[in-house]
Amino acid sequence: MSSQAGVQSRQTIEISSPATLERVGEVPVDTQAEVQAAAERARLALAGWRETPIAERARVLLAARDAFIADREELIELITRENGKPRMEALTEFAYVCDMLTFYPGRARKFLRPHRITPHMLLNKRVTVHYRPRGIIGLITPWNFPLILTAGEAIPALMAGNAVIIKPSEWTPLIARRGVGILRQNFRAHGYPEDLIQIVNGYGETGASLIDEVDMVAFTGSVNTGRRVAERAASRLIPVSLELGGKDPMIVLRDADIERASNAAVWGAFTNSGQVCISVERVYVEEPVADEFIRRVVEKTKALRQGFDGSERDSERRVDVGAMTFPKQIETVESHVAEARDRGAQILTGGRRHPVMQGQFYEPTVLTDVQPAMKIMTEETFGPVLPIMRVRDEAEALRLANDSPYGLNASVWTRNRRHGEDLAARVEAGITCVNDVIMGFGVTDAPSGGLKESGIGKRHGAEGIRRFCNQQVIVTDRFGASREPVWYPYSAGFERLFARLLVVGFSTGIIRKLKALFAR
Ligand code: NAD
Repeated sequence: MSSQAGVQSRQTIEISSPATLERVGEVPVDTQAEVQAAAERARLALAGWRETPIAERARVLLAARDAFIADREELIELITRENGKPRMEALTEFAYVCDMLTFYPGRARKFLRPHRITPHMLLNKRVTVHYRPRGIIGLITPWNFPLILTAGEAIPALMAGNAVIIKPSEWTPLIARRGVGILRQNFRAHGYPEDLIQIVNGYGETGASLIDEVDMVAFTGSVNTGRRVAERAASRLIPVSLELGGKDPMIVLRDADIERASNAAVWGAFTNSGQVCISVERVYVEEPVADEFIRRVVEKTKALRQGFDGSERDSERRVDVGAMTFPKQIETVESHVAEARDRGAQILTGGRRHPVMQGQFYEPTVLTDVQPAMKIMTEETFGPVLPIMRVRDEAEALRLANDSPYGLNASVWTRNRRHGEDLAARVEAGITCVNDVIMGFGVTDAPSGGLKESGIGKRHGAEGIRRFCNQQVIVTDRFGASREPVWYPYSAGFERLFARLLVVGFSTGIIRKLKALFAR
């Protein structure tokens, strides 16, 4: 048995652990009518919450952090059992949720405060921009970070005054249900309706039904599904944000710190078994340091401990690399590695499912002699595979890094920090790290999201909460004249004066000076 989610009856999804293959639990599949009912409950719950002052919303959500902390061990165990990742990586998910429950309650007031604009032309108008909740936000999420992308993603949406309905991945619904359960209990404890956040379960059809009921959809998942989600949202003309796949390049220049770079390559490629949208998916290393870089990467990869370390009580034993969550993803990994090998790539370590362990384990794999056209260098592998290509120089590395439909994250490695930042600015990616990998996602103050086919919209920072808001502009007349010069009746005399004023105003900079005067 290699899969952990299968239809037990038409109404139920059964979950078993990808690491141990033991049964973990089950969830019912929600019908279209049940999704509609959830949306009706959300609308009722929303009415009071959207008018609740931000400071009060912040107080309520901040209190949930204590509840998450109290349930820490249970959450970590459930993540490891349902998703197959090591305890350390489950702890990272927990840390992210605590960070979101700190960051947005602390900053939302600043991010959503109405702000004034001084118009550059209509100086007789007072203009303010307001951020109002959109209504019901539908989150449709994948299986690789089941707590971060459900409870974590919901926090800025709730903080902005919305209600949230989550359709978690059919492969990891239990941790989503547990995390959301904590938020629901916290709302109840503070006298607010628990239906401000709800879960609906099921497959793609349930996700599609959810899009039909909500006021905005925030989708995280593959490019292909993202396109379908965007099309469905477009037919209703509701806003959509898309956080999609990547093929993140790592560029190692000849003056890089090879020890740090090789440590980063190994962690960046194999953490979460490579099932990270911003994992290192391909390396371009300059020829003069390639041998040393590859030697160290292989040595460090061979030292990794693979397995399952679910419970803290079991022992002190810890693993570095866990199981792969989604059985089909192993097939993708196998097909990419097989194609690369058939076309001349060398497998320096790994390159197969784990020969002994029963669960869904694929060995951490390092490949060299890869070519730019191989699938392993072009398509998202989303598994524990690190293909390394030698390049002549930086220009070749940059050209190959940018020759991709994806543009999620990237990294650049050099001891010359300034040069690294210049090069990073030329990499086509939403976030590029210099001498670091993946950590850009942890900077929750900065906008995070993909370019090109990697997505539309940003999470984190001010954008990460404003995307869940409608922007409303209020334009107020300042002087109360009986009519504006451009209103009826039109006259030839005023038209000539207006034309002359425009020419003088735009060509002499008078408008700019007036603007400075009015801005005071
Ligand atoms: P997926 O696209 O197969 O599924 C994502 C979600 O969409 C699931 O909940 C699924 O049930 C639902 N879904 C499927 N068909 C649907 C439809 N027609 N309408 C509505 N919903 C539908 O992705 P996955 O395999 O679960 O996740 C892996 C992908 O997610 C990778 O490509 C990875 O790069 C990406 N990802 C991106 C980010 C990011 O922040 N950019 C983060 C994590 C994962």
